[in-house]
Amino acid sequence: MFIEPKNSKGWIEVICGSMFSGKTEELIRRVKRAKIAKQDVRIFKPKMETRYDKVKVVSHDDNYVDSFPVDTSDEILRWVDDVQVVGIDEAQFFDEKLPEICNILANNNKRVVIAGLDMDFLAKPFGVMPQLMAMAEYVTKVHAICMQCGSVAQYSYRFSKSGGQVQLGEKDQYEPRCRACYITGMEEQKVDTDK
Ligand code: ZN
Repeated sequence: MFIEPKNSKGWIEVICGSMFSGKTEELIRRVKRAKIAKQDVRIFKPKMETRYDKVKVVSHDDNYVDSFPVDTSDEILRWVDDVQVVGIDEAQFFDEKLPEICNILANNNKRVVIAGLDMDFLAKPFGVMPQLMAMAEYVTKVHAICMQCGSVAQYSYRFSKSGGQVQLGEKDQYEPRCRACYITGMEEQKVDTDK
């Protein structure tokens, strides 16, 4: 479990993993603890993430905290003057300026806690996540459980091949899979396409 460093000022934490790995729950856990310690916190998410509702970061178990939907990463800077802890959810959907923005925040003595998908459904690094992970002081990779075999899962396997990288969905479209079961699934999809 992540333990906050003592006597540090600004820094960056990244929580990454597949779908259903508990990334948002971990972000909320960290931010809530800071809030209990009377620190001013604020969570941001890209406006496009509207799977549940527009004003709250909602994890899959409805454990929520208030958040600010923003159009661009630039916009975050406008809302953080009085804030000590900045949370960022669904970071993979933000624009390419987000790493620079996170550095500015951390350099200004803010704790930045970022959650995001590290790979898309094709198992390719997702958006700005690789840069964020490289720049962060602390990176936590959380895992789901493979729905096929029960092993540790790091892939977001998607049943449908139609649609682009950005396709929001629920359990009927995605399932967490381990490496072996992900490969098997992708090979089966290829066979289906070749028919
Ligand atoms: Zn498996």
